[in-house]
Amino acid sequence: MRRMAATDIKKKADLGIQAENPAETLERLRRCIDLMERAYGLPKRRGSNPVDLLVQTILSQNTTSANTHRAFENLKRRYPDYQALLDAPDEEVARAIRCGGLANIKTKRIKEALEKIKERGEGTGSIDLDFLKDADPEVARDRLMDLPGVGPKTAAVVLLFAFNMPLLPVDTHVNRLSRRLGFVPVEASLEEAERILEMITPRDKYCSFHVNLIRHGRAVCSARAPFCDGCILREVCPYPDLAGQKG
Ligand code: SF4
Repeated sequence: MRRMAATDIKKKADLGIQAENPAETLERLRRCIDLMERAYGLPKRRGSNPVDLLVQTILSQNTTSANTHRAFENLKRRYPDYQALLDAPDEEVARAIRCGGLANIKTKRIKEALEKIKERGEGTGSIDLDFLKDADPEVARDRLMDLPGVGPKTAAVVLLFAFNMPLLPVDTHVNRLSRRLGFVPVEASLEEAERILEMITPRDKYCSFHVNLIRHGRAVCSARAPFCDGCILREVCPYPDLAGQKG
């Protein structure tokens, strides 16, 4: 069993993904989703409060999901409502989320985002994002991205998981794997990758594709050393052959 070395990966990235029949790409994508659902299960849409999701996504930057979960639990235990969090001193909030790393930066981002959301409550003082639920997905994405510290991925996570909007979040794992799997051209920008994946993925599979690709990226197809020999997606992935590896 051999993991691919970083130099192999670079070589392959330089080769690029070979052009293929779009129907074949769609077929491979469906098969890929199916194989991952068999291995990892069918993820459920979380249906969480959108502000909770936003805060969790900010907390998840540069840390593991276990640390994100612990930091969020600490935060909710300490501040059952977001106004209490806004009223608390920054150092106290940072202490509550210390286990998630970058505590001072994340405290600042969370507070700034909550302040902005509150401003949009137009005098009601409420801190919620329910005003987005009937918006056009693209408009909702732009409005969320107006908030400090919210990029396209965070906006898409909140809108997909809270409101089931047809947006596909592309994080570092989804970005890397979708290129290796040949669903997105190597030279595409992140924005192009989002558009392409939203176009070719069946809408009812956005959540499944996103969540399972992240699981697979963490467990098998890491950035430095994808474990192609033991990979459940080997039959639909051109990556090992393009790098000259026999699977
Ligand atoms: S075969 Fe699997 S591990 Fe290898 S690049 Fe493809 S998806 Fe990643």
